[in-house]
Amino acid sequence: MIRQAKGKTPRRPPPKKPSNNQKDPVGVYCRVRPLGAEDEECCIEVISNTTIQLHAPDGLKANRNGEFKETQYSFKKVFGIKTTQRELFEDVAKPLVEDLIHCKNGLLFTYGVTGSGKTHTMTGSPGQGGLLPRSLDMIFNSIGPYQAKRYVFKPDDKNGMEVQNQVDALLDRQKRDSQTTVPKTPTTRRVDPEFADMISPEEACKADGVDEDSSYSVFVSYIEIYNNYIYDLLEETPFDPIKPKPPQSKILREDQNHNMYVAGCTEVEVKSTEEAFEVFWRGQKKRRIANTQLNRESSRSHSVFIVKLAQAPLDADGDNVLQDKNQVNVSQLCLVDLAGSERTSRTRAEGSRLREAGNINQSLMTLRTCIEVLRENQMCGTNKMVPYRDSKVTHLFKNYFDGEGKVRMVVCVNPKADDYEETLLVMRFAEMTQEVEVARPVDRPICGFAAGRRQRNQAFKDELTRRLEERGGPVDGDSPTVLNQLLQSFPPLPPCEISGPNDDVTLPRLIEALEKRHKIRQMMIDEYNKTANMLKSVLQEQDSNVLSKENFIQEQRGKLGEKDKMIQNQKNEIDRLEKKSKMLEYKIDILQKTTNIYEEDKRSLQQELESREQRLQREVSEKRRMEARMQGIVTDAKLKWEKECERRVNAKQLEMQNKLWVKDEKLKQLKAIVTEGKTENRQPQRPSREKDKVPAKRSASPSPVPTAAPVRPLHRRSHSAGGERWVDHKPTTNVDLDTVLQPNIPNAIKVNAPNEKALSKCDKYVLTHQEIASDGEIQTKLIKGEVFKTRGGGQSVQFTDIETLKQENPVAASRKRRSSETGPEGEPMEGDWTDVETRCSVAVEMRAGSNLGPGYQHHGYTKRRKP
Ligand code: ADP
Ligand code: MG
Repeated sequence: MIRQAKGKTPRRPPPKKPSNNQKDPVGVYCRVRPLGAEDEECCIEVISNTTIQLHAPDGLKANRNGEFKETQYSFKKVFGIKTTQRELFEDVAKPLVEDLIHCKNGLLFTYGVTGSGKTHTMTGSPGQGGLLPRSLDMIFNSIGPYQAKRYVFKPDDKNGMEVQNQVDALLDRQKRDSQTTVPKTPTTRRVDPEFADMISPEEACKADGVDEDSSYSVFVSYIEIYNNYIYDLLEETPFDPIKPKPPQSKILREDQNHNMYVAGCTEVEVKSTEEAFEVFWRGQKKRRIANTQLNRESSRSHSVFIVKLAQAPLDADGDNVLQDKNQVNVSQLCLVDLAGSERTSRTRAEGSRLREAGNINQSLMTLRTCIEVLRENQMCGTNKMVPYRDSKVTHLFKNYFDGEGKVRMVVCVNPKADDYEETLLVMRFAEMTQEVEVARPVDRPICGFAAGRRQRNQAFKDELTRRLEERGGPVDGDSPTVLNQLLQSFPPLPPCEISGPNDDVTLPRLIEALEKRHKIRQMMIDEYNKTANMLKSVLQEQDSNVLSKENFIQEQRGKLGEKDKMIQNQKNEIDRLEKKSKMLEYKIDILQKTTNIYEEDKRSLQQELESREQRLQREVSEKRRMEARMQGIVTDAKLKWEKECERRVNAKQLEMQNKLWVKDEKLKQLKAIVTEGKTENRQPQRPSREKDKVPAKRSASPSPVPTAAPVRPLHRRSHSAGGERWVDHKPTTNVDLDTVLQPNIPNAIKVNAPNEKALSKCDKYVLTHQEIASDGEIQTKLIKGEVFKTRGGGQSVQFTDIETLKQENPVAASRKRRSSETGPEGEPMEGDWTDVETRCSVAVEMRAGSNLGPGYQHHGYTKRRKP
């Protein structure tokens, strides 16, 4: 909103910022250009006058798993390839020009990738003028006759507009005329052949409802924003061929009404379409030259053409512009040709150019961000900061979005396949932009003077001229005619020439005539007074009538005001509710999305649950099988262990019995030694069978475990070979085995029966005892012991070790061990064996895997110290 608002007069209410609650969405239009001659594939189809459909190009389709992607986008209106520049103008720009003339601001920009037709749309080409020349033409067609003289309006340097007095304006005009050689206003159309036919007089447009009681002036500026720098394209810089000055960038400022403007930017007052377009073309040329000189690409710059319309009411006479700055209204229309919206990668820029490209995209990015935040703020009622200041383009147009004005955007698209992906981005931006709302500009209050001043003034002037021409002299009212009429209504006066001193006819006749005239006059006065009084009363009556009518009107006005207020309140309420509903819709949308996500989660969780349950089921059945198997194993193991235990118990029992037997044996030997001491020469008697019955029975358990493997006849030396002396007790019953496996103890006293004498000389004792094993082999046992002196002076042997040797029985060939009762010497064999059994216990255990070889295990019954 660009207006003069300094020092408000009480007549005009101060323009509040968002002075109305009414908002309009940004008008987004889409223009599809025809496919270029070199392009083949068309990706855009216009399916209605508000909708287009995008098809992914063939190559892209293949990339996305053959997925056929189609998307539709809707706009306020879609213009297909056959749309003429005029049609586009009528729909898009004409309303903005009408607004401009009615003191409202407008912003129109073209958006799209390079080559999509932005410049074609905005500027056009000869014979096909774009929105810009057409807008200029419409402005001048509308305000043409009501334009102020040059320099009546004069921009100050703070984005404001002043009204100069006539003298100053005249002086300025004279100065201009003397300075410039160019004709001040081209009187003929088509000045420059370069832009000939841009404006066609046949297609002239005109705004309705132009305030004829105002005076107008048009000012134009033209800037370029490149790399986030602002350049004034209309600045007249004296050309220095020696040291050409690089263009100076301009800065943005905020005026007292918080409107942004380019500080120190040239504003050229123009009086006709041709002049205005000429100025634009001058800037365009300058832009082209600068781009060539500085090696820049024009597609990366934004160009902004600003048309400012100043208007002020005529004074009460309808003669001159009112000399009151506060009555000046300035509205502006910005026509923006934005830089190409493509990504940097597509511009193939390198080095410093890349940086520039980045910046250009940055400013478009900022535009996108601003639109995004604005939309969010409006839809969700948030108050996020809109980053207008991040780029010059958005900063310059800030007031349109947070103030008021009409914003329109023409989205230009090229349907070629190469542009497809960029076009998608453009479409998304366009979609978002349509959801942003901008405050609708309010109608300006009209000036307090009676309307039709200009016409009356003109009519008066016309009439004056006519009459002057008619009479050829100064006109002084209508008095002669009225006088004549009045004079004619009186009776004529008689001749008043006195013939002589005695003429007494003339005077009385004159007196009579005058009296008559006086009477008539009196009558006329009376009549006049009467009529006047009548008129007065009628007027008074009318007055009171009018007064009552006025009162009535006042009353009605009051009511109307109340109604208005009510309507306003209701409107506010509606607005509020609409906003709320929008917000709720937004929330619903979000919730819907959240629900979808949750449902998706739920589904996947359920699936997982099912699969886990199945797994669990499987595991449970697996477990059951395992259990059954384990049960079997446990039972088996139990059985095995029971057997094992039983076996071990038996072995232990046997061992214990053997120990018991050894003890018994010791006791017996001790007894024998004792008895031997008494009967010196008596041969040791074999203990009677009866005597040994009990211990024999005690060891009745299967002492010799049958060995499956044969004993190899190995020569084995006695462990007892050493320095000690041994008593070598070999009972006479022993079979002589001619084997090398014979205990051979050197230095031993050999006895058939132990005697005290021998024992007293030795400290070791060994008994060689033979028996037949169950497999018929002879088992030789070496029962070893230590000799101790007893307290009574005798000797005692403590058994410490038994060694078992096995050998095939040499006599078994002639005799079966257990089938016959008698041996070769006629001695009962069984008794002999039994006798042996009573002397020594034998334990040969067969244990699989024993490291002593199959069937052979050496048992020591006592804790053994190796001799
Ligand atoms: P931009 O400014 O977006 O880079 P231009 O306006 O320069 O694109 O357009 C590129 C070319 O396409 C120009 O030669 C222009 O004449 C042509 N063109 C663009 N739009 C149209 C249209 N609607 N009809 C015919 N030609 C067009
Ligand atoms: Mg262009």
